[in-house]
Formats: sequence, C-alpha cells, structure tokens
Amino acid sequence: MEIKNVAVIGAGTMGAGIAQVCAQAGWKTTLFDAYPEGLEKGMNSIDSFWEKGISRGKTTQEQKEKWASNIHPTMDLITAVKDADMVIEAVPEILEIKTKIFHVLGEETKEDCILGTNTSSLSITDIAAASGRPERVIGMHFFNPVPIMNLLELVKHDLCSDTTILLAKEAGKIMGKTTILVKDVPGFATSRLGVVLGNEAIRMLADGVASASDIDTAMKLGYKHPMGPLELSDLVGLDVRKDILNNLAESFSDESYRPHPLLEKLVEKGDLGKKTNKGIYNWNNGVKSERDDLPFL
Ligand code: NAD
Repeated sequence: MEIKNVAVIGAGTMGAGIAQVCAQAGWKTTLFDAYPEGLEKGMNSIDSFWEKGISRGKTTQEQKEKWASNIHPTMDLITAVKDADMVIEAVPEILEIKTKIFHVLGEETKEDCILGTNTSSLSITDIAAASGRPERVIGMHFFNPVPIMNLLELVKHDLCSDTTILLAKEAGKIMGKTTILVKDVPGFATSRLGVVLGNEAIRMLADGVASASDIDTAMKLGYKHPMGPLELSDLVGLDVRKDILNNLAESFSDESYRPHPLLEKLVEKGDLGKKTNKGIYNWNNGVKSERDDLPFL
C-alpha cells in the first residue's frame, strides 16, 4: 500500500508538528481536534513555523503554499479518518481518551489503514486492543519539536503485524525521520534511558560530587551529549520525569527506578524546571544560572 492520505488526531504541540511534517511529505493531511481553539492554535503554529522559515531564507513562499494546500483542518472525526491510509493520534496522555478514539478508528477507517499512537508512556497493547484490530496499531513516538527532531521511535506490541511495522518505517523515512524499533515496555527506549541518566545526575548533585553545570559539562564535552542531563530534566519538567520514574518502579517492581529524594523535594516545592523559572537551575527569560541553595536535603 502506498500512503497518500493521512489523518492526525489532536492539533496540540505534537499533533500540529506531525501534521506539518506529513504535509511537507506531500501527503493529503487532515488535522482533527475536538476543540475549535485547539484546531486554530495548531493551524496557527504550523503557519508561523513556515513564516519563520521564509524570513530565515530556509523556506520559499511557493513551498509554503504547496505544503499549506495539503493540510485540511476539520472538527469531524469520521470525515477526517474514513479515507485515510494512516492515522496518527496525538491527544492528551489519558488512556481513556485514547481508547475511545481507537475504538472509533477501528470501526471507521479502511481495513488496511495503519493506526499510530504518539503516546509517550501508555501501553500500546492496551490502546491497540481498543481498536478491535490490534495488528494495524503501532506506537509512533515523535519528539518535540516534531519538524526538527529526527527520531521516530516505533513501538511494537505482540499482535502488531510485520506489514504495519514495514509501512510505519517507510512512512517515517518519507517524513525524513530515522526510525528505531522497540518492544512495548514501560518507558520504551528513550524515556527509560533519559530518566535514569537524569535521576543519577540528581543523585550526584545531592551527594556533592560536582556542581550542576559541571555534571552537565561532563556529559556534553566528555560524551558529546548536546545537552547535559540536568538541564534536559529542567526542560522536560521535573514533575514529568518524577512520574515516569515512579511508573517504571511500579511496572518493573524495581525500587532502583524511584525518583531521588532531591527530585521529590524540588517537585514538592513547585520548582519544576524551566516552565516555573526554577528547577535544578534558575531560569530567567530562558537563560539558566546555577542555584546557590542546592542540594537542600
Ligand atoms: P497538547 O495538550 O499540546 O495537545 C493535545 C490536543 O488534543 C489539544 O489540541 C486538545 O484540544 C486535543 N484534544 C483533547 N481531547 C481530544 C479528543 N478527544 N479528540 C481530539 N483532540 C482532542 O498535548 P501534546 O503535548 O501534543 O501531547 C499529545 C500526545 O503526545 C500525548 O500522548 C503526549 O504524551 C505525547 N507526546 C508529547 C510530547 C511533548 O513533548 N509534548 C513528546 C512526545 C510525545
């Protein structure tokens, strides 16, 4: 099957970015959101990304017009998905919302349509079961911002068919992404490694091994990481990281995944990272500086 017609469900941070790369790939892309303000915000963010590209000389006006003509916003879910060859879901990370949508997708899409979910932590097996045709469902975990980040983590569950994996890999390639294939385990590959590294860096900070910026510099210069694990934790959000660590500890029945007490304490104080202007670092207008009151255990 050749993919020509794609539907993206949810026009938020991720859905808008996914719809944008689909449109740029030349596919007819229908973008659905359950809320008018969500749809409008998503369409505006795509437009402003392209406008920025034009002002920086990276995109031409003709390119923008061509890509824009591929995107069709709608608030009618069935219209969005009925002719689709591939649907990618990017609604909030709540299992109940996702399973309701996959139930509709199972009933209203073409028999050979691939159904991707962009969940970052929920079980693909559970989401796939809700569709009634799990063999067509696969995790398609994109990264933020989608048009810039090259990775697409494909997550296969036990009932996922080889054809679905093959088509998802091919779709990723056409979108300009490098795909990796991972089993449906908590944290997949990316979140699991990311949070473990971040938690260990926090433990080192609490133990007084080095300052936050020296720990980050160690990984940037010593291991060529583009960003240090502490800075990255602040960007993702310390609350998000704490939840993932607890989820891993419970799923694997392994207490070594539990968030370090310093991470717990920061979250308890509301110091969640860049979004609250304070986390492991101080953040002032997006510029970070070392805190002089850490570790405060
Ligand atoms: P978001 O809150 O920015 O967007 C969600 C969108 O879904 C909103 O526009 C909302 O109006 C819409 N929506 C809510 N209920 C809906 C429904 N029933 N039907 C259709 N649309 C509905 O969320 P996001 O950050 O884009 O995250 C979406 C998914 O992507 C989540 O599963 C999240 O875990 C995953 N994810 C997020 C990131 C990230 O960095 N933000 C990275 C990777 C994966």
